[in-house]
Amino acid sequence: MTSILETRSLNKSFGGVHALADLDIKIYQGEILGLIGPNGSGKSTFVNVISGFHKPDNGEISLLTDTGMKNIGGKIPADVASYGIARTFQSSKPFLNMTVLENVTIAAMLRESTVPRSKAKAAEMIEFAGLGSFKNTLAKSLPIEQRKRLDLCRGLAIDPKLLLLDEVMAGLNPREMESGMELISKINQRGIAILFIEHIVKAVVALCSRVIVLNQGSLLAEGTPKEVMNDDHVIEAYLGEGFQKRGEPNA
Ligand code: ADP
Ligand code: MG
Repeated sequence: MTSILETRSLNKSFGGVHALADLDIKIYQGEILGLIGPNGSGKSTFVNVISGFHKPDNGEISLLTDTGMKNIGGKIPADVASYGIARTFQSSKPFLNMTVLENVTIAAMLRESTVPRSKAKAAEMIEFAGLGSFKNTLAKSLPIEQRKRLDLCRGLAIDPKLLLLDEVMAGLNPREMESGMELISKINQRGIAILFIEHIVKAVVALCSRVIVLNQGSLLAEGTPKEVMNDDHVIEAYLGEGFQKRGEPNA
């Protein structure tokens, strides 16, 4: 398997808190990698450091590019995005007084050379994400489900090869979650690798081929969803003792 992103001995501290502790993580081309762990275990920090919003204290981050692995550690967010890594935020941050189309067009301008091309790219992604009827709606007026889709669209507009999703399902009802999962599969089928941070175990099991678990900034476990959900350390640190071990349906 070819990795699209690799970190080596990645560290980030905030004061006395070691949010990322010597993390060696690989994300493979085309996979959906689940990232789970207790609150405060470093999941969002991992996304923030990979996407350039926080500088790592030390360690390496390399991304597969046309010319091989490139070190992107410490680059600013716009540069990281231009190399093909898109992200969503745990609390979404659209321009509230702009329409869906305007918001996605601005994101597309990072990769496209002209405004008309950016607008066309944005319109295509808005259709793809099932947001066509909300194209001219102001971001502040969007219901939560469509607001989450807007976040995804802004990421997709840069034509990423890796998409980092930080709890995009939070706040959705079961029906909305189901259709959100379908959209994430559809994005992955375009060949985009996805890092999927999510607390709802059912969604992680359904979508991910591989899962990693963080605890206090360190890698606690790694494996298939089934392996990870049956790991005693994961049950103790994250899932809780009431969690019922179970198998996956046979393929
Ligand atoms: P998760 O997303 O897994 O809930 P975070 O990555 O948000 O965890 O946080 C990991 C640790 O780093 C927590 O202890 C949190 O309080 C701390 N932390 C995260 N971001 C900051 C920040 N900007 N300033 C100070 N501490 C932070
Ligand atoms: Mg978080």
